[in-house]
Amino acid sequence: MEPLLSVHGLSVSYGRFQALHEISLAVGRGEVVAIIGANGAGKSSLLNAIMGQAGRVSGAIRFAGRDIAALPTPAIVAAGIALVPEGRRLFPSLTVEENLAIGWDLGRRGGLRVAEIYAMFPVLLARRHQRAGQLSGGEQQMAALGRALLADPRLLLCDELSLGLAPRIVDRIYALMPEIRRRGITVVLVEQDISRSLAVCDRFYCLLEGRVVLSGRPAETDRDSIMQHYFGA
Ligand code: ATP
Repeated sequence: MEPLLSVHGLSVSYGRFQALHEISLAVGRGEVVAIIGANGAGKSSLLNAIMGQAGRVSGAIRFAGRDIAALPTPAIVAAGIALVPEGRRLFPSLTVEENLAIGWDLGRRGGLRVAEIYAMFPVLLARRHQRAGQLSGGEQQMAALGRALLADPRLLLCDELSLGLAPRIVDRIYALMPEIRRRGITVVLVEQDISRSLAVCDRFYCLLEGRVVLSGRPAETDRDSIMQHYFGA
């Protein structure tokens, strides 16, 4: 069966700088796949290219049997892909509830309802009428994840969920992965926190300077080998 997402020969350039060099990868239905790599390896460029948001892109991106490489972002969201962007990118002057509603409005209008997001993150219920800009970093990350889930994605892309957050908060957010999985949502996670992402993923791809240098299953791959490929040693 064709994978849910397949990327073939994907290159991304910003002006003369090439961030990704013909990378290929595949994500099966129901998998959690981690993309690991150091700063600047091209992880965000990969997610942004899938969302139709990167610089100059060439190569093939197929999702659920369709070529999505040339689609505008709203059509990609409507097809069933949602991104939790690096830095959350909430609208700071809108309330939590208004930010969440954006996910529903842009998405497929099925799946999780806002009440279920509040059940996952009770703190968002308590703060639903506050402006998103007044929330703590962890609360903002929960709102950004909630907004993406409300779009009813078949594929959820998460960019650095743990960035700048206390380990206790990151634990709370990652504790939801089994539930996200149970709902049949396929996940691609970008993380600099290697142990965190290897602990939750089925498979990983390691990027170095815009190329896939290693891929595999965490349990079947030697940790030293992962670290060597990560740092390009
Ligand atoms: P980070 O963890 O720092 O976000 P990353 O692995 O996600 O790193 P990218 O953000 O994809 O990497 O960046 C890959 C390379 O592309 C970096 O060298 C970065 O400076 C460059 N880059 C990213 N976005 C742009 C842009 N809009 N214009 C120019 N260069 C960019």
